Amino acid sequence: MKFASEFRDPTAAKGLLAAIAHKADEIGATGEKPVHIMEICGGHTHSIFRYGLDKLIHEGIEFIHGPGCPVCVLPMSRVDECVEIAERPEVIFTTFGDAMRVPGHKKSLLQAKAAGADIRMVYSPLDALEIARRNPEREVVFFGLGFETTTPSTALSIQQAAREGLNNFSVFCNHITVPEPIKALLDDPHMVLDGFIGPGHVSMVIGVHPYDFIAADYGKPLVVAGFEPTDLLQSVLMVLTQIAEGRASVENQYARVVPEHGNPVSLAAIADVYERRPSFEWRGLGEIDASGLRIREAYRAFDAEEKFGIGYAAGPRDVPEIEGCACGQVMTGRIKPTACPQFGKGCTPEMPLGALMVSSEGACAAYWQYGGARVAAE
Ligand code: SF4
Repeated sequence: MKFASEFRDPTAAKGLLAAIAHKADEIGATGEKPVHIMEICGGHTHSIFRYGLDKLIHEGIEFIHGPGCPVCVLPMSRVDECVEIAERPEVIFTTFGDAMRVPGHKKSLLQAKAAGADIRMVYSPLDALEIARRNPEREVVFFGLGFETTTPSTALSIQQAAREGLNNFSVFCNHITVPEPIKALLDDPHMVLDGFIGPGHVSMVIGVHPYDFIAADYGKPLVVAGFEPTDLLQSVLMVLTQIAEGRASVENQYARVVPEHGNPVSLAAIADVYERRPSFEWRGLGEIDASGLRIREAYRAFDAEEKFGIGYAAGPRDVPEIEGCACGQVMTGRIKPTACPQFGKGCTPEMPLGALMVSSEGACAAYWQYGGARVAAE
């Protein structure tokens, strides 16, 4: 297949693996003293395991799995608030499928649906708009979730609802941004990170410059990467080359997709509809300043938090995570999923305890899908 198969070419992959090994030896990376490279995006985590790159790569390179899975970093309190909205008799609650099974403190959206709540899976916020048009007597709420990749489509649906005067449509906004949690990780004295693989899809929207502070202020290289095996290997090589040359900059391996300055239409829609929240709660990272978006005053009629007096609109919140769940430590790369005491025991894809085991981009799901089940059994 054009645009995919050439990036899965085994000969090219072998050449890159050899070049990585050479560069790793040059900088003295070993199994005991590895170079820690965080892949921020959960999509990259899955590619690494799907293609066995963690096994094939030089032993001196250790992949640290980052917080770039929006479903995984959603705190349980927000799932509880989704359920609370969805259980109102007047509400049709619409959501992407991968959020359905994420556990809340009492139940997931799927369990709420089984108990009678009107919860419908959609493929786009435009589907939710159509449901609102067809059900003028009901309140239709869309679960807006994700990083800068999905933020524009939710913004466009809110703009469209405003144009049509569709006042029975609203968004429970959980859109978050990538650069702020990376700053929080870099400010954590316990984190040892030598470089970053930057997210490909998010960068399509925001471009590469929002990461400049990582190189300028923290002296760490970041390479925005594609999702095929040779994309990832080439990006690792680019990170190692920067380390070997004693420099740190933001580079773009995924230039075939990621424009340097992002997508102006998407950025304009984001700027029109959202503003920064003072802070937003992340699973495993706690409250992070300016890391979440809320709907601007001009579109407040479409803000489900305001409409139902829920979430941040209801005042300060402090909701603990489930005991014995190591999602936060996995989320921040402190431990591997298989080191969680619940992995394969109290937490499996069939009976998940944490979102990382449910989401298609979750690190625990990746370990399980590509060999972790065997590790757990052993
Ligand atoms: S195995 Fe389950 S409980 Fe443990 S970190 Fe992963 S998702 Fe969380």
